Amino acid sequence: MATPDHEYKHDYDRVHEAVDERVQRREDWARRRREGIPTDENLLVIACMDERIPVEDALGLSLGDAQIYRNAGGKVTDDVIRSAALTTNFFDTDEIIVINHTDCGMMSASDEAVVSGLQTQAGDLGGVDLDPSLPELTIGGAGIEEWVKMTDDIDEACAAQVEHLRSHPLIPDDVTITGYVYEVESGELRRPGERVAAGVNTRVE
Ligand SMILES: [Zn+2]
Repeated sequence: MATPDHEYKHDYDRVHEAVDERVQRREDWARRRREGIPTDENLLVIACMDERIPVEDALGLSLGDAQIYRNAGGKVTDDVIRSAALTTNFFDTDEIIVINHTDCGMMSASDEAVVSGLQTQAGDLGGVDLDPSLPELTIGGAGIEEWVKMTDDIDEACAAQVEHLRSHPLIPDDVTITGYVYEVESGELRRPGERVAAGVNTRVE
C-alpha cells in the first residue's frame, strides 16, 4: 500500500528523533561520571557478597539505578566509608541501603577460629598490611578479629551498620540510610528486628 508523502516524512522524523534520543542516551551513559550524571536512583547499596542474595531483584533495581558495594557480611568497613564518602559528597548519591541476610557466613565461625585460620595462612598477623598500597594505615590497637567482623546476631549487625554510616563525619547528615535483612529462606527482605514469620505464628495473648 502506498504511503502519502507527508505521512512518510512524519514517520521518518519520528525514527530520526528516536535514534537521536538513543544516541544521546548512549553518550550520556558513557560520559556519566565526567558529566556529573548520578545513578538513576541516587543510590548506593552495601550488601553481603553471598551468592544467594539477588540484590537488584530484591530492591527492584535495573542497570544504572545504583552503585553496589558487596563484601563479606555487608559490613561498613573503612573502604565502604571511603566509597560512601566519595559518592555522597561528589556524585549526588543521597540514599544508602544496607542489606544483610540470614544464614550469613559471618555467623558460621567464632572469632577464635577465624583468627586461627588466618594465622595458619600468614603467620604473624601483626605485620600484615591491610591495604598493600597504604602501609601507614595500620590496625593500631584493634585485634584482627575486630577487623574481620564476625557476627552473632544479623538483626543487631544490620542496625549497627546503619548507625556506623549515620554517625560518620564523612557522610552528609541529609543522606537517607536504611537497613534490611534478606531472608535466604523466604527470598524476601524485612526490616531488622521485625521477623514477621515469628510474629504471625505465635498466639497473641
Ligand atoms: Zn553473608
